[in-house]
Amino acid sequence: MEHFVTPSNLIGLQQNFSEVQQQITAICQKIGRNPAEIRLLPVTKTLAIEKIEQAYQLGFCSFGENKVLEAKAKYEALQHLPIHWILIGHLQSNKVKYVAKFIDEFHALDSLKLAEKLNHRLLLEQRKIPVFIQVNTSNEHSKFGVEPEQALALIDQCQQFTQFKIIGLMTLAIHSQDAVEVRRCFQTLRVLRDQIQKIYPDVQRLSMGMSGDFEIAIEEGATDIRVGQAIFGARALPDHYYWAE
Ligand SMILES: *Cc1c(COP(=O)(O)O)cnc(C)c1O
Repeated sequence: MEHFVTPSNLIGLQQNFSEVQQQITAICQKIGRNPAEIRLLPVTKTLAIEKIEQAYQLGFCSFGENKVLEAKAKYEALQHLPIHWILIGHLQSNKVKYVAKFIDEFHALDSLKLAEKLNHRLLLEQRKIPVFIQVNTSNEHSKFGVEPEQALALIDQCQQFTQFKIIGLMTLAIHSQDAVEVRRCFQTLRVLRDQIQKIYPDVQRLSMGMSGDFEIAIEEGATDIRVGQAIFGARALPDHYYWAE
């Protein structure tokens, strides 16, 4: 595991941000992509409100959160700032009611039932948001998401919904030190996106890559990388703790 340093002040945070941005630029130069195609989405789960305010001061205004109630509490505490809240983690359909009011984007749609609830609640709020389908590319039972073979069918079924638009696919790569295995997950998502895009041209984006693997993800076509620890420092607990229901 890499060592992610927790910044002790605003300058330190700024340095971490610029290091990540330099890494993005370097990898893009290496492979001939335009760094402007890649959105760096800071992931603020477990962080205190002050850290988010600091990141906002540095010019970031979209943040990824993976737990419903935590996201809601932060939205409420920071309503005075024009922040975009992006839910990147699993959402149980009985919790849609807590988030429909404020999330500006959702990266983990993985069932028709959830899609129905989301559409219904967004309609009540008179809101429309962009959505990504989460795909399980790693065959790990611990990961959420539809199987790759099911993604197109779910997108077909979602065409009836008016309040969200599917703009891309999202995945978490296998938790492995083996870069080949990690890359295979990202390739699976990209190939799937290419197939789906022939039928649904609006399905363009690839939300993939985190602190430990965003360079591989960018090489494989990521458009949205979700980065927490490389910016804000190591979290105390391992990821499966945050990804549990
Ligand atoms: C926590 C999390 C991330 C970011 O992970 P880091 O290791 O902090 O970069 C990305 N995606 C999801 C779904 C997460 O829950």
